[in-house]
Amino acid sequence: MFENITDNYKFNFLTRKSVISNLLKNYNFISYGIIGKSLCNRPIEYLSIGNKNNCNLWVSAHHGSEYITSMIVLNFLDNICEKIKQNQKLYGIDLKEQFNKQGLVIVPCLNHDGVEIQLMGPNSAGKYSNLVSKIISENHAEIWQANARGVDLNHNYNAGWEKLHILEQKNNITGPSYKRYGGTHFHSEPETISLVNFCEKNNFNSATAFHSQGEEIYWDYGKNTPKISRNIANILAISSKYTINSPEQLATGGGFKDWFITRFKKPGFTIEVGLGKNPLPITNFENIYTKIEPMLYINSIYDFN
Ligand SMILES: [Zn+2]
Repeated sequence: MFENITDNYKFNFLTRKSVISNLLKNYNFISYGIIGKSLCNRPIEYLSIGNKNNCNLWVSAHHGSEYITSMIVLNFLDNICEKIKQNQKLYGIDLKEQFNKQGLVIVPCLNHDGVEIQLMGPNSAGKYSNLVSKIISENHAEIWQANARGVDLNHNYNAGWEKLHILEQKNNITGPSYKRYGGTHFHSEPETISLVNFCEKNNFNSATAFHSQGEEIYWDYGKNTPKISRNIANILAISSKYTINSPEQLATGGGFKDWFITRFKKPGFTIEVGLGKNPLPITNFENIYTKIEPMLYINSIYDFN
């Protein structure tokens, strides 16, 4: 799907828009919608295939510098849709039948503004441009994880937020930053609220958030973690040769998977794709994708009920 990938290839908002419109053109069975808008008014889209009442959720690019995760889920969607269109089976499973039983919903880019800042610079942050410029120059920041007003979306969820907030302050993160500032209160950001509301409205069987990097799978958060989660994480790890891990202190709580597990008592995962320094070079895309494609297939067709 992604051709002519060079160091200069930019998976920015316009590129994503054209990739999504091509998918909708090629596969008329994909449903499309918008779950909300970013701070800078960019629409946060979702794409779905199959059963809408019984489905799993994937979310990419909570963090601006991790836009490669958007490429991964969209490329996967293209591949799986092509197989469905051609009536192909996978591991002996009839895909059309499978997705009619249990669908897949993908939010390919939750943090459009953060990705735009990472790829196109502070000017893409509209009225937040000055704030973004100031944060970048004061911190000599080379990456941008946060949204346009310096809130790290994956620190902004209602799951141990207060504890995380205290930890942030101890680590001198007391206000808008390029990473790891969880906001003035949980669910303070439009991107977070959009995803929370989307989950509240849809009864998802599981949720997987894609991040980079580390080749790691996280599956547990507190007492609401279902027993089945560990087994699924094992299967995902075996299929990708990724390792199962527990988060370091400042990555504990406040995250989307943490909130999903706490709120719904259903499986929630974070998958850290690739190895290296963020943003991962786009020329690594094919290697990263090829290594995890079997895991993506398994995660998409696994019966979480
Ligand atoms: Zn991340």
